[in-house]
Amino acid sequence: MSHDGVVTVTGAIWRDQLSPEQRAALGRDAGVIADPRPDVLVVGGGILGVAIAAAVQDAGIGSVQLIEAGRLGSGATGGATGLLIPEPHQWSDPETFVDLERASLQRWRYLDQATPGGLGLVELDWIGLAPDPGGLARRQPPNVEWLDADKIARLVPGLAWRLGGALIRHQARVNPLRALTGLADGLTQVGTGVAATGVRSRGDRIEAVLTSAGTINPGAVVFATGGPPVLDGLDVAIPWDRVKGHLLVTTPAPVHLPCTIAPVATPLEDGRLLAGGTFDYGDESPVVREEVIDTILGGLRAALPALRRLGVSHQWCCFRPRHPDGRPVIDQVPGYANAWLTSGHFRTGILNAPATGLAVARWIGTGRPPPEASAWSAVRFPEIDTR
Ligand SMILES: Cc1cc2nc3c(=O)[nH]c(=O)nc-3n(C[C@H](O)[C@H](O)[C@H](O)COP(=O)(O)OP(=O)(O)OC[C@H]3O[C@@H](n4cnc5c(N)ncnc54)[C@H](O)[C@@H]3O)c2cc1C
Repeated sequence: MSHDGVVTVTGAIWRDQLSPEQRAALGRDAGVIADPRPDVLVVGGGILGVAIAAAVQDAGIGSVQLIEAGRLGSGATGGATGLLIPEPHQWSDPETFVDLERASLQRWRYLDQATPGGLGLVELDWIGLAPDPGGLARRQPPNVEWLDADKIARLVPGLAWRLGGALIRHQARVNPLRALTGLADGLTQVGTGVAATGVRSRGDRIEAVLTSAGTINPGAVVFATGGPPVLDGLDVAIPWDRVKGHLLVTTPAPVHLPCTIAPVATPLEDGRLLAGGTFDYGDESPVVREEVIDTILGGLRAALPALRRLGVSHQWCCFRPRHPDGRPVIDQVPGYANAWLTSGHFRTGILNAPATGLAVARWIGTGRPPPEASAWSAVRFPEIDTR
């Protein structure tokens, strides 16, 4: 595929930004289960599984084995935008959720500092364009600075729209695969290409997890499989679906954006712009649709006419796992004393992974749910089957 003479890669840019060693690490120990009797087994090698495994290992709870059916980050994680922006959610989400997000961004910053080589966290301000201060909310939160149209025009030269904007400072972003490889680097036992297929249980305990590479007998097991786990012998009936999204990255742009300008674009390394994050409800096809990419590109060029000759270097799509209320489940598997799950992180799984990891690790370590866990219960949906 080519846009204005530029050959476009169909696939996320994130992999191309990794070193050869980091790329190889996404497929580490293929088909290998190093520890068939771990204290804690984590199923799923997206950002949630890796963050949970890292938190459990850091907490010194015992040995940790992680298994991933494909390569690390091959699900939603590898296709995400990677924005870590809790504060704009003040306008749309309940306080408990924004609190989880804030705590998680703080944890991201800590992990970025504490991990040898860092996790590649980039500090970033965020501006949401709106016609007037009331365009986003009647009452602005105290950490929001309102910029009038003149200020926006000075900050974003060439913007075709005469709009003001809400500025929120001190947000962040990551390359999700770069952050994931950094966290996974500290894990001792990771097997990629190992799919969990079923469980055997006795009473309220899962005794064995059957996998494509043999049986694992864990002390405790955490399912972080994007949506709820679908395994023989495990009856988890939490309602969920998935929402497809398309993204594109341009070639280096002649326009400098000072920060994320929503809904226009986020500046990346070497002047590229990341745009999109569509919500393609009802589209179940894994294929990138040219018409959606053209719409994103058209919107970018309409906002910034100087970009009319700009090409697209990368285009891709992926699926956000979602529960009916759009918030995650972080809970024990209903009916089991030694099994946990987290699922349905929808639009904010990259952001919320470290705080979720801490919550699950503390729960396993102490045997008691953390105070905030009731908000993310697996049994808050009417259709739940509690066995
Ligand atoms: C277009 C788009 C933009 C987004 N932008 C952002 C953003 O800016 N910020 C943000 O915070 N979030 C964002 N998200 C959301 C984020 O990508 C997800 O919430 C997050 O990646 C979910 O992570 P996960 O680990 O739960 O799932 P996944 O990344 O899907 O990982 C689950 C893993 O489990 C594995 N697995 C499944 N079943 C088994 C099994 N039986 N055995 C072994 N392994 C198994 C899968 O192979 C997969 O690798 C975006 C999502 C999309 C689609």
